[in-house]
Amino acid sequence: MKGNGFKIAIVGVCLVVAGVLLYRNLYGQGDVPEEFRNQAARATLWYKCTKCGEVISVKPEQIEGMKIKEVELPGESVPGLRISPKKLQYIECPICKDMTAIFGAKCEKHDLVYYSINPDGSRGNCMKCVDELEGRTEG
Ligand SMILES: [Zn+2]
Ligand SMILES: [Zn+2]
Repeated sequence: MKGNGFKIAIVGVCLVVAGVLLYRNLYGQGDVPEEFRNQAARATLWYKCTKCGEVISVKPEQIEGMKIKEVELPGESVPGLRISPKKLQYIECPICKDMTAIFGAKCEKHDLVYYSINPDGSRGNCMKCVDELEGRTEG
């Protein structure tokens, strides 16, 4: 029978396809998105008011329902900046009741929230880290 080899080949291909689908079902779905969701839930976004200096922590699930004002940054990218920022994100400050709080970052070392990007477009830094760095270079 000449057809047998061909049939076996088809069965083999089917088994491989079934195996791939099974593998996808077991590992492709569920696993990665769930882990990603957990990571996103843990992360906190930080904002700091440009008027009163109030630090605002926002959960990623909260930000979706919030008003965000995006302001285009003027000028070219700043020298020494790896990724040129394009927009500033403002949210409402609970103290000022105005869209004056901009996106920030938290220094884990000093537990200090600073502007991720300053209103003038330059990169923000933790002032305490800057002080330490300058202190070290001056001796
Ligand atoms: Zn404020
Ligand atoms: Zn710091």
